[in-house]
Formats: sequence, structure tokens, C-alpha cells
Amino acid sequence: GPLSAGLKRKFQPPLKREGGPVQPNNSGRNQNSNNNNNTNNSTSSNSNGNNDEELPEELRGLDKELIEKINNEIVDDGQKVTFDDIAGLENAKNTVNELVIYPMKRPDLFTGLRACPKGLLLFGPPGTGKTLIGKAISYESGATFFSISSSSLTSKWIGEGEKLVKTLFAVASYRSPSVVFIDEVDSMLTQRKSDENEASRRIKTEFLVQLDGAGNDRKGHVLVIGATNLPQELDDAARRRFVKRLYIPLPDQPGRECLLRTLLVKNSHSLTDKEIIKLSRDTDGYSGADLKNLCTDASMGPMRSMTVEEMMSIKANEVPPIAYKHFRQSLRGSSPSVAQSDLQVYLDWNNTYGSKV
Ligand code: ADP
Repeated sequence: GPLSAGLKRKFQPPLKREGGPVQPNNSGRNQNSNNNNNTNNSTSSNSNGNNDEELPEELRGLDKELIEKINNEIVDDGQKVTFDDIAGLENAKNTVNELVIYPMKRPDLFTGLRACPKGLLLFGPPGTGKTLIGKAISYESGATFFSISSSSLTSKWIGEGEKLVKTLFAVASYRSPSVVFIDEVDSMLTQRKSDENEASRRIKTEFLVQLDGAGNDRKGHVLVIGATNLPQELDDAARRRFVKRLYIPLPDQPGRECLLRTLLVKNSHSLTDKEIIKLSRDTDGYSGADLKNLCTDASMGPMRSMTVEEMMSIKANEVPPIAYKHFRQSLRGSSPSVAQSDLQVYLDWNNTYGSKV
């Protein structure tokens, strides 16, 4: 049926992405699974939805519908993000290259002490680019990107959580190299014990088990990236599994300047270098997401000065450019989303537990 056809299509070994970096090393595992797949293609499907014959050997015994759901809803083939799309954060990018990208591309060179860590924690205020970094790691290393938020585990995937985690890791290792990105990881691995229900305790246990197993040779390369705004909520067991913990701070002035330039490049604008620098100085405390909102709002400036009739009849190339005055107007109605007083917690946690870059 169409279901199994879709399944087979999705289980082709990962292809080199167009325009993406070349992957010099294709592990023998994938070639094997390809062979298995070819054998399986000859077995016709029957009406029994649980026909294990259709699944590649590595995934036999797992729930086929859940696998299908993972491929459809958790594997993220969306927008490609490269390191060039991420403004600033040079330290983080360098560290990530050395720790993760090179080892994922050349696992044969990065063995033993040099081996890629299985868990990477990105922590810091919201809207600073943690998700972007996760996506860029996946893209730059040619990995399959699995993206899930902890809150969806306890809401959307209610009741299936533990099984989902197990199946997710099986699919990730099958489609390796893979990146499993878990947003709001603190809420899955929180240290609050008293109000913890049985279901979330089991999800947590299963996750820790998988995190211990992920990335060893037998299972292929699976990197787990956890993102959190509340690193202090992680308990010891969870924290230890994320061997590398990178602080992703608010952008500094050069970072904000770079971000503004990146954001503005997509529209016609009349801002001079001096004005961009002035804006970057006047937005101290703004996160990347705040700056994006600011630019989005300013970009509406030229539209707001038109009547509806004018807007409907104007040619696209006649729309006035976004100007500095539009930014000044938008700045008056905006403020940073992260309180300065909240930042100390991150600095302290970074001092105690962070990986120094
Ligand atoms: P986080 O995961 O840290 O909460 P995101 O990575 O989802 O934040 O960033 C939210 C949005 O803010 C991004 O989609 C992007 O538009 C913008 N943004 C944040 N930081 C950066 C950055 N360093 N470079 C470019 N865009 C950024």
C-alpha cells in the first residue's frame, strides 16, 4: 500500500544533500541496510499493518506507525541553515566545528579521546540561536535532523512518550549520522521529583538509557543536542550525560551589528553603515529573536505610510526602502525580552558547569 511505499522511500540511506558539504565517509552500516532494503523491496506487503518484513532489519519489532510518524513529524527536512546564516557566536561556532562537525564528517580520524561527544547542551537566554546552531550542525555535517520539544512529548505524544523515545533513537541510528535536537530539554529531565508522574519518569529513564547508548559504533553516529533556557533545572544525571555544555549568550555589539546586516540583506533599505552601528549600540540586551522582531516591524514602516489604494496599485520595485527613521519608530515600541537580572544565573551556571571555549 502507499504507507509501505512511503516507508521504503524514507528508508533509503541518507543521500548527499544538494549543495551541502560532501560526506567523505559513508559507514558500512548504511550500505548494509541498503542491501537489506533491496531484499525487502521484493517482499510484497500484506494487509497486516504490522508486517515486520517490510521494515529494515535494524527496525524490526518496532511499531511501524510510530516510525512513520517520526519520519513525518520529527525528521525536519525544512529550511537549511548554514553557519553563515548565524550571526556572531564565533566562539560557539568554532567549538562546535572542532567538537562535532569534523568528528561527524570524519569519524575515522576522530576516535578514542578525539571521538565526538554523544551529548551537547546549548544553554542561554531564549532567542539567541540555539535552534539555529542545532540545524546548522545537522546541515553542515550532512546528518539527518530529528527535532522534538519536550512539551510535545508530554502533550502531543501523550501516552506514547517512552516508546517514542526508544523508537526515535532506533530510527536515528538507522538513518545516521543523525542529530536529535531536543528543545526545552530541562522540562524532560527536570530535577523536580515530587510532582513527577509515572509517565514522565519513564520517559526520562528511557532517554537517559538512550543517551548512554547513542553514538557508539554499533549504533552509528547519533548526536543528541539539548537546548534549554533553564540549565539549572537539569538534575545531575542528565547534566553529566551532556558532556559538552556551551553557553549561547545574548549577542554583543558586534554580534548585533552582524545580525542587523544579515536580517536587512533580504530587503531594500537605505541605512548607512553608521546608522546600523548606531542601532546595534542602542539595542543592548536584545536577543537575536528580539532584533528579528525589530527588523520585521521596521520593515512595515514604508507600508504604513501608504494608503490602502496606494499599496494596491504600487509596483513592487517602487516601494520605498526601509529607512533609519522606521527603525527609530519601531525601537520606541520595543524592549528586550530578557531581563538583565536573569543573565547572572547563566553566567554562574556556565562558571560551574560550562565547557570553556
Ligand atoms: P533559541 O533556540 O535560542 O531560543 P532560535 O535559534 O530559535 O533561538 O532563534 C530564534 C530566531 O531569532 C531565529 O529564527 C532567527 O531568526 C533569530 N536569531 C537568533 N539568534 C540569531 C543569530 N545568532 N543569527 C541569526 N539569527 C538569529
